[in-house]
Amino acid sequence: MSASPVIPVDLDADRELTGSIGVSGRGSRARALARSLRRALPAAAPAVGDVRPGAPEDPVRDAPSGPQRRRGRPAPPIVTRAVRFGRAPVVAPLRIAMLAPPWIAVPPPGYGGVEEVVSVLTETLVRRGHAVTLFCAPGSVSSATVRTLLDAQHPDEIERSLYEVDHVARAFDAIELAVPHRRFDVIHDHCGFTAVAMADRIDTPIVHTLHGQFTPATAAFYRRHAGKAALVGISRAQLASAPAELGPIPAIPNPLDVSAWPLRERKDDYLLWIGRMTPEKGPQRAIAAARAAGVPLVLAGVIQPGQQPFFDREIAPALDGERVRFVGEVSGSAKRSLFAHARGLLMPIRWEEPFGMVMVEALACGTPVIAFAEGAARELVVDGRTGFLVPDERAMAAAVGRLDEIDARDCRAWVVAHCDVDVVAAAYEGMYRSVLERQSLPELARV
Ligand code: UDP
Repeated sequence: MSASPVIPVDLDADRELTGSIGVSGRGSRARALARSLRRALPAAAPAVGDVRPGAPEDPVRDAPSGPQRRRGRPAPPIVTRAVRFGRAPVVAPLRIAMLAPPWIAVPPPGYGGVEEVVSVLTETLVRRGHAVTLFCAPGSVSSATVRTLLDAQHPDEIERSLYEVDHVARAFDAIELAVPHRRFDVIHDHCGFTAVAMADRIDTPIVHTLHGQFTPATAAFYRRHAGKAALVGISRAQLASAPAELGPIPAIPNPLDVSAWPLRERKDDYLLWIGRMTPEKGPQRAIAAARAAGVPLVLAGVIQPGQQPFFDREIAPALDGERVRFVGEVSGSAKRSLFAHARGLLMPIRWEEPFGMVMVEALACGTPVIAFAEGAARELVVDGRTGFLVPDERAMAAAVGRLDEIDARDCRAWVVAHCDVDVVAAAYEGMYRSVLERQSLPELARV
């Protein structure tokens, strides 16, 4: 079976956009009006206005202090200008508030899937000429303007509402207090549930990336609140379980800066498993498959709170320092080297994995992936070309014997075409612009 790739939305990413777009879609009433106008108008045409040179400035830097609120004030035009940056054909600079979670620094020192995505996307958007302010955990480093809000990171309290709400509320305050001529055009939210639920309480439109899988509880949440923000998924597999009432949601894959990952065609004789120490990620099944294949296995990853009993019971007894080794949490060049030298990455998942960054990281290094055909693995692994999709441990062991059929350059080329930073950033730029164009409709109707 051949897997079809994640297809990034083509939201006019390459179209030249010149002129100013008046934005007045303030709050939920305005959004309702925008919706009705959307039905009445066939297409939105940007109004012609003044053109300001260069990238926009940071909206927060010179924000007034004190309880000044923007709601109800007339909105200045959003000014866009057609420019060229790097590999991107045409980009209209925007002021983007990137809202990272409050738990771990950006980029993450080790494990941290969402923080890594936020870091790579932020750096790329800055390189492409946008003014990005990154609202994030203390200790973060970025070429964007960095705004840390809480006093400490909270790696052991992930999803504790106390910290998430505090973080988002402070970000909303800062965004609303931006001086009028430097307002943010868009908030890009990666931060749990708070910002989506409160999106109609802030004037700036929100693009919300769905990082997790849909469960009955989160599906009910999004049924209630999704209309307040523009949602983006990270794979078709993830979106397949979205409630039908949400309508079509675009899928934009997680980005990888491929240039930062080494392509290695000559491999060492070990298989790699890397991830969180949980049963659904399958380190115990990787051990069984590697043993059956007769190839040494390196396990790498983080043991998060609550995972120690599983590790002690299922993993520790198999470790012999030779055929099965555990190297703990890895990061930086050691992690990249581990990926690059491996004969193959084992991904014996038993859950609807919404993305699976480790698969893309392995492929970028020219390391094929053998995955159970679950979740987004069906989109990220092209069976027979960049790895193999298999049903169980036995088939996984058999596929190890076929790894030599895979060309390392094909693996990397697939990542370059589908997940490289500029491909993904261009898709998000299109998303931001489509949100802004939709918001501008009430204003255009008055012209
Ligand atoms: N990771 C890491 N060090 C480790 C284990 C994992 O840096 O020891 C990184 C890994 O490279 C990847 C992320 O953590 O970027 C895991 O993301 P993935 O989407 O694969 O899994 P999940 O988000 O479900 O944990």
